[in-house]
Amino acid sequence: MANRSVVQIDEDLCVGCQECTKVCPAFAIEGDAGRPQKIVAERCVMCGQCVQVCTGYVSALEQGYEAYSKKRAERGLPDTVNEPLFAAYNTSHVNEVIAALADPAKFTIVQAAPAVRVALSEDFGLPLGTLSAGKMAAAFRRLGFKQIYDTNFAADLTIMEEGTELVERVTKGGVLPMFTSCCPGWVRFIENAYPELTKHLSTCKSPQQMAGAVFKTCGATLNGVDPASVYTVSVMPCTAKAFEAAREEMKASGFRDIDVVITTRELAYIIKQAGIDFAALPDEPFDDPLGEYTGAGAIFGVTGGVMEAAVRTGYTLITGKELSGKSVDITPVRGTEGWRKANIKAGDLTLRLGVVTGLKNVIPVLEELKAGKLDGMHFIEVMTCPEGCVSGGGQPKLVSGAYRAEAYAARRESTFVHDRELPKRKSHESAAVTKIYAEFLEKPNSRKSHELLHTRYRTV
Ligand code: SF4
Ligand code: SF4
Repeated sequence: MANRSVVQIDEDLCVGCQECTKVCPAFAIEGDAGRPQKIVAERCVMCGQCVQVCTGYVSALEQGYEAYSKKRAERGLPDTVNEPLFAAYNTSHVNEVIAALADPAKFTIVQAAPAVRVALSEDFGLPLGTLSAGKMAAAFRRLGFKQIYDTNFAADLTIMEEGTELVERVTKGGVLPMFTSCCPGWVRFIENAYPELTKHLSTCKSPQQMAGAVFKTCGATLNGVDPASVYTVSVMPCTAKAFEAAREEMKASGFRDIDVVITTRELAYIIKQAGIDFAALPDEPFDDPLGEYTGAGAIFGVTGGVMEAAVRTGYTLITGKELSGKSVDITPVRGTEGWRKANIKAGDLTLRLGVVTGLKNVIPVLEELKAGKLDGMHFIEVMTCPEGCVSGGGQPKLVSGAYRAEAYAARRESTFVHDRELPKRKSHESAAVTKIYAEFLEKPNSRKSHELLHTRYRTV
């Protein structure tokens, strides 16, 4: 377990406003008002919510170019970055990505999480929530990535694995309720604070990690390249994903699933540094086959989205029938309340489901679980950030709280529009997922799937 957080507070810049202390869901920030705050690394879940709300900064305009450029260099940021740098920040890996793109020996494969495509455009002056999946793929191509694949493909794969695991736990008497495991902040929190409950976590890796494991195995075969030359770059709305990628369990293929993680903000830095006019780019496709995704993969970025995607496929796994028309929208699990429950009928079975968003809201739920008050529940989604990954710590920074709320609503709405407009909306309809099972993994939860796509947790 890392004892240094990927998120830091620069005491030269911290003004002691304590906005971070108020927002931190892990009670990991300490300090007196008006004095620099400190992160207790052992408790920090690396969500980056402190980065989003931080008010202390350095700017070239106010403190002078020399003071500003010194901080920019310390953080390893390109010298084309000219926006204010805030006291709370995450360790940057921008230069590693730029170096990998210039290295002909590396077969670079990029992926971007569902929530990146509804926020990236904000850093280029486009309206809040503008969907820019096609422009993002075009930018990746201009930057020189060899393959433009997608986390959303692996979100669909996650649903196949997690949905199958849930049905097995329900029908064969496994540990219930099962918790989602795709948010690394949540996984770190339960390992730290409630290790005796980690048996409730799904054993599935997150979509980021599943994608990396597939790119370095099946993907290398499909591309006819040596797996050792594959270098996987992941663009995430999330600061905790860098921590997840560095976990020692995340290399079951013999290689690190993910070589480097950057945030949405840092992708914008790289695009600007390359002189690409993002707003003027045409829409381009992701590369086949591991860039294909359904609406179910797209909604992973919003709170309740993993649950909704799981129900769309779980219903078919349980009943053998398909949801169609408006019934594909599982509206009872949508919303932004911190803890919400829903019952969904699937044939003779009533699925008892829950959704938690905002990590502070999970504590009473875990206490209820320990007290036996959640008996009979089947599946609970947990996301650390206030509205899921659209509000992640690595997303474009929005200084005013009101503007932040407006942005989250716009990103959420854009995500659901994207889902509605995609030709396929259920993970089991993905041709890419079908191909990967037919040619490499055999079937969900097979021995090979378990080796590559599942993980283990700290239990004490
Ligand atoms: S990264 Fe998240 S958990 Fe860590 S100090 Fe910041 S707000 Fe708290
Ligand atoms: S909710 Fe999303 S962005 Fe926030 S910590 Fe979890 S995975 Fe990262």
